[in-house]
Amino acid sequence: MFNAVGGLQDTLNRVYEKPGESFNEIKRLLLLEDEKELEVLFSFADKVRKKFVGEGVLLRGLVEFSNNCANSCFYCGLNKQNSCIKRYRMTKDEIMRAVDDLSAMNIKTVVLQSGEDSELEPLWLAGIIKEIKNNFGLAITLSAGEKPHDAYKLWRDAGADRYLLKIETTDLQVYAAAHSGRFIESRLKCLDDLISLRYQVGSGVLVGLRGQTADSLARDILFFKDKNFDMIGIGPFIPHTGTFFSNDKPGDIRLTLKVIALTRIITRDAHLPATTALGSVGTDYRIEGLKSGANVLMPNFTPPQYKALYEIYPGKACIKEASEKCVLCMDEKAKISGRFLDYSAGHSIKKRYLFN
Ligand code: SF4
Repeated sequence: MFNAVGGLQDTLNRVYEKPGESFNEIKRLLLLEDEKELEVLFSFADKVRKKFVGEGVLLRGLVEFSNNCANSCFYCGLNKQNSCIKRYRMTKDEIMRAVDDLSAMNIKTVVLQSGEDSELEPLWLAGIIKEIKNNFGLAITLSAGEKPHDAYKLWRDAGADRYLLKIETTDLQVYAAAHSGRFIESRLKCLDDLISLRYQVGSGVLVGLRGQTADSLARDILFFKDKNFDMIGIGPFIPHTGTFFSNDKPGDIRLTLKVIALTRIITRDAHLPATTALGSVGTDYRIEGLKSGANVLMPNFTPPQYKALYEIYPGKACIKEASEKCVLCMDEKAKISGRFLDYSAGHSIKKRYLFN
């Protein structure tokens, strides 16, 4: 596709220096197939990662506290029409025990994640956030979907530091085809609310959604840059039998790694996880993720009786392992990638936070 590796190097330099003017180049890079050219792309992303976020691999301890969801996303096993899964909502005591477990492993960030649970009481979660801050002093990331501004504010005031809300795709047609009763405008408004409340904000996409093209993915990557997100999660679409997209092809892993690499090159200092989905496609590709620009791993501290029930997609990695083992396994992944686990809170390093 490129005349020589030198030509590819020039293109990468241009994309790095002037991403806003590089839409066509980004698209061409997403279509790379030649092994040598891919190596050049991944190693360029790896150098950008090293320069901006260093060699440490940050740890986020995940607690999936409710699998209830009032939505019908056509790609997600937690959609409300899926009657084949048993629903749960952890009690406050169960959440605090899971937080205790991850804190005992020296992890300094907890991610409290749920479906878009319509019965989630904002005050109840605010109480938990306060207790985690008071008892453990951890950084707290929330991921509970679209909520009113008031709830986001309540949780921010209670001490939550970060919020993850994946856009999944910025392509209007792809978005409309993957959702029922949900609109991209409300997603964008929630992201703007979170930014205005000075959360560290994360977003992200699924690679391989029905109708998605290199054009859509290139726009997604530029959207990350425009919004200057602190965290960006990129994973492959994995079809689930309990969804409308059950017969769709899974997302391509190579393409997912290319999106991670280009997101690193273009956003430079955002925190990018090697997502659990990358480890859940038969082979564990999280090490490849770490070598293509990612700098975060997320050991799962959801209690064993609930782990398998949080089934966004099938075949989810690490649901049988004890959480402590998970951390050891992450340590190995970091070492194989020539890196080390970083046990700091791993806050955003975007300049705007230096003045807080
Ligand atoms: S993606 Fe989120 S909002 Fe959509 S069905 Fe799954 S858990 Fe619910």
